Amino acid sequence: MSRAWITVLGATGSIGVSTLDVVARHADRYAVFALTGHSQMAVLEAQCRQHDPLFAVVADAAQAEPLQQRLQATGLQTRVLHGVEALAEVAADQRVDVVMAAIVGAAGLSPTLAAVRAGKRVLLANKEALVMSGALFMQAVRNSGAQLLPIDSEHNAIFQCMPRNYANGLGQVGVRRILLTASGGPFRDFALEDLAGVTPAQACAHPNWSMGQKISVDSASMMNKGLELIEACWLFDARPEQVEVVVHPQSVVHSLVDYVDGSVLAQLGNPDMRTPIAHALAWPERIDSGVSALDLLSTARLDFQAPDPQRFPCLWLARQAFDAGGTACAVLNAANEVAVQAFLDGRIGFTDIPVIIEYTLNCLPPVQVEELAQVMLADRQAREHAHRWLANRA
Ligand code: NAD
Ligand code: MG
Repeated sequence: MSRAWITVLGATGSIGVSTLDVVARHADRYAVFALTGHSQMAVLEAQCRQHDPLFAVVADAAQAEPLQQRLQATGLQTRVLHGVEALAEVAADQRVDVVMAAIVGAAGLSPTLAAVRAGKRVLLANKEALVMSGALFMQAVRNSGAQLLPIDSEHNAIFQCMPRNYANGLGQVGVRRILLTASGGPFRDFALEDLAGVTPAQACAHPNWSMGQKISVDSASMMNKGLELIEACWLFDARPEQVEVVVHPQSVVHSLVDYVDGSVLAQLGNPDMRTPIAHALAWPERIDSGVSALDLLSTARLDFQAPDPQRFPCLWLARQAFDAGGTACAVLNAANEVAVQAFLDGRIGFTDIPVIIEYTLNCLPPVQVEELAQVMLADRQAREHAHRWLANRA
């Protein structure tokens, strides 16, 4: 069997590291074409030594030159490229079979779309790319025949529980609704009046998952579930009222599909991203992911609750943005990225995050999207408005 060439966008992040862990277990199946990283050059260098990719891509020449020298000094042939165009090149290169899209945030949109347009098997972790550009992204998938496989644990679970041919709407295949599970994050049981004073460290201490900082804060605010609701609507051609968010603190049931005959199919497993990664890498086959078997007896309990709108306004803002359509989701996403960074930098409180997002959505009425340039413009304008809010506040 010839090996599949894989490019890992965002190799140095949480998903990137988990992806390379799975890839390393199956050196007979996968060869690494390119690894990309925006910071943590020592991690990227170590990954290059282990996986010997043809290319590494970094942010700029100042990062590229020393890395190239260090790799060359040890006899590695890896060529170090830099810049956003190089990201798209290693995603779309003719030799590449699989692209893991694991850059965080809007920065991942252009290389992920490049992979989609080139008709690759695209493993989508970078939900922000799909949230921003929804209809255009899915149209590009249909046009190129790319194979889009969800990595988000919930969407991967839904994919596993869905009938094969769901592309023409859930009603056609007997699906009543999708049940999207959420852990509720670290503040599920916090007193509401204490939320304003929580620290970034508290927000990033997720009870069940170890993840990058941005998605950790999104999980704490439940904007992550809002983005995932939008993601589910695009991936599975569902209407928002067909997706019900259910808080499930144990993070063992990764999501469920409810059929008209009363059957509910769920995917369960330990909360470890190597499971959806291995699933999407090998699909429709199955390979070992390194994840230990689920011990139901020690899990003992599976609890489910409705999300609390007062505690998690971000979830409702995301629903509203999806309903508003057009550029609203790009605005929502950009405002959230600015707000989360400001929170991580200690400039605002946790409860300011939804305030900034709502303010920005109100500043920018949605525009119908015909082309990518409109999405990029909405993203830029939303960042400007959100920064203006921060400046006025200061
Ligand atoms: P992370 O912060 O750990 O890693 C992000 C990666 O993106 C790093 O390699 C970083 O160098 C790179 N990057 C950051 N800014 C960049 C830029 N401007 N240009 C190019 N590269 C840049 O994040 P993560 O937790 O691995 O999450 C990655 C994506 O996967 C996010 O979209 C997240 O929502 C999604 N996701 C993550 C998890 C998880 O368990 N971590 C689960 C589901 C979905
Ligand atoms: Mg998820």
